[in-house]
Amino acid sequence: MRNLSKTLLVVRNLFLSILFPKFCCNCRELLSESYQGLCSNCSSLINFNQTSFCSICRARLPQNKKICHKDAPYILAAATNYNSAAIRNLICQYKYRRRQTLVNPLANIVNTFIDKSGLKSIISTDTLIIPIPLHPKKQRERGFNQSLLLAQSLSTTLKLPVENILERKKPTTPQAEINDFEKRKINVADCFAINETARITNKIKNKDIVLIDDVYTSGSTLNEAAKMLKICGAKKIIALVIAKA
Ligand SMILES: [Zn+2]
Ligand SMILES: [Zn+2]
Repeated sequence: MRNLSKTLLVVRNLFLSILFPKFCCNCRELLSESYQGLCSNCSSLINFNQTSFCSICRARLPQNKKICHKDAPYILAAATNYNSAAIRNLICQYKYRRRQTLVNPLANIVNTFIDKSGLKSIISTDTLIIPIPLHPKKQRERGFNQSLLLAQSLSTTLKLPVENILERKKPTTPQAEINDFEKRKINVADCFAINETARITNKIKNKDIVLIDDVYTSGSTLNEAAKMLKICGAKKIIALVIAKA
């Protein structure tokens, strides 16, 4: 009898979670407060990075200063790590189950990292926030660009403008579907451009950039985007992501 009522409870919670996503994305526990993505227990398991990283050798950068590869095209600022199930589930629900409201708990995670790592001290007031774009076809399929929503949310706390000026010139296979590092590099080679207005008006010349993506894996996508931004005159680039693999 006890088992039956337990099963009924699980089934009931499953239905409710489909109808009203008020459940923890990781452990499915009912959330009492407004929808936050993760319960307090799963949130407490998040391992925040304390520093940013070199984008070439991935060494930790104390005080967010380049110490090893001074020529690295950007500083990698990853809030946390993709090997955490809680983070992975949260990001997957956001991107693939298209739960746009999850941008709020994700932005909270990034903001907590910005505080803990002291990243704000190296972000100048002359900085533009630029999200990694999706190809228009992909964006139509998903209904939103996850990096743009995140950029807009972070724009409020960082008090910096979002300039959605990067474009994808060609459709690419999702990097998550490619395992080989070299093939990932080829897949995204020269896939980005700056939109015409931004190019004509020299929008990013001598500007610092916070480049937003959701997950950093091989770095190929961010490398390509940073390359394009540098060609257009960008100065310092900080690639800010929720998690690195
Ligand atoms: Zn939970
Ligand atoms: Zn390095």
